[in-house]
Amino acid sequence: MEDLPSMTVSQRDQFLVLNDVFRIYSDFDASDIATQIFTVEIQRDKQLDYLMNGLRHLGPSFSSLDANRPWICYWILHSIALLGESVDDELENNTIDFLGRCQGSDGGYGGGPGQLAHLATSYAAVNTLVTLGGDKALSSINRCFLRRMKDPDGGFRVHDMGEMDVRACYLAISIASILNILDDELTQGLGDYILSCQTYEGGIGGEPGSEAHAGNTYCGLATMALITEVDRLNLDSLMNWIVHQQGVERGFQGRTNKLVDGCYTFWQAAPCVLLQRLYSAHDLVLQGSLHMSQPRDEDHEEHAHDEDDPESDDDDSDEDSNEGLLLTFSYHLQLNLVALFEDCRRVQPVFDSLNLQRYVILCSMVPEGGFRDKPGRPRDFYHTCYCLSGLSVAQHAWSKDKDTPPLNSDILGSYANHLEQVHLLHNVVMDRYNKAIEFFHRAV
Ligand SMILES: [Zn+2]
Repeated sequence: MEDLPSMTVSQRDQFLVLNDVFRIYSDFDASDIATQIFTVEIQRDKQLDYLMNGLRHLGPSFSSLDANRPWICYWILHSIALLGESVDDELENNTIDFLGRCQGSDGGYGGGPGQLAHLATSYAAVNTLVTLGGDKALSSINRCFLRRMKDPDGGFRVHDMGEMDVRACYLAISIASILNILDDELTQGLGDYILSCQTYEGGIGGEPGSEAHAGNTYCGLATMALITEVDRLNLDSLMNWIVHQQGVERGFQGRTNKLVDGCYTFWQAAPCVLLQRLYSAHDLVLQGSLHMSQPRDEDHEEHAHDEDDPESDDDDSDEDSNEGLLLTFSYHLQLNLVALFEDCRRVQPVFDSLNLQRYVILCSMVPEGGFRDKPGRPRDFYHTCYCLSGLSVAQHAWSKDKDTPPLNSDILGSYANHLEQVHLLHNVVMDRYNKAIEFFHRAV
């Protein structure tokens, strides 16, 4: 460090990370083809061993996560689902029973049996049970609870008397949407609150006045999409902020001028793909509207005199037309949110998808299984979950619709690296989401 006397701590850390990352990249580039092919394989067996072992037994070092046990279930089981696998009946039943003991008598899940119900662990428990699927898992969820967390200011509190932030809003709305209990009471004033958290940079902070952050940007954007108010955000500046968070390492950072981290692969790439699909849907609406508003010959004749008519007001008609397009856009969003995931064209991702995958596989993946934040850090289940989720988003970012699998060229490494597609707004595997939605629509 004596060579770097004028650097701040952050600059020094960034310098060291860049050194590590570019050393890994140059070693990779200098290796022979067989080594390169092996190095970019996800190594499913090792990933599954690491995940299954964690589900069966965790050592004493995990005691600090005692209030996050449903999260551990979610991180592990969702990772297993992304790899296209599931657990045996015994592990499934044990997980359902355990989460049942975390659930309070009037709904909501605590971090462990007997702990206070919290929106974060409730989200983790619900997503775990959706990932397991089946009547036993899904019917174990008590759908009351969320209304108690609603604040008169529009947002949500994470628990009774707890803090209110964008994360809490997303957790509540994601749960409500999957459980099919989303209504006007829950969404009242929520859009205004999220809007007040979008910063001058374009990203979204945790609460009004806070710095834009990847996790909160995902939460805010997903919430606005779920309550069909996404067009109220400044989407251009949001997109601009996110794409500029992909650093020279090609991984994403979570805040401006902060270090790259594998978990932001999901928190930043998912909003990019979501925005691309929104823009695609918007383009389709515009094309449809323009097609519908093509002047007919008789219109030309009828209004031919307008060209010389000083009373005619073209600006007004343009405004009406723009307003109509916006209304059409909103109408489209309200009625056809699902279509955003079904009716999109194949597009080039707005981020560098293949080099993002390269960062995650070469720098975050641990050869023994599991993923980490960055080189030199230990692996953990949180980073394994969000690195795999982000890899899935990057692989599927080019796909035409949810039923179109990625092409070979969309996936770094062989097609054996292909991961299941996630639902961008909930981060559960798409077919598990579809089955849960079917179940909860039947359960009304
Ligand atoms: Zn991280």
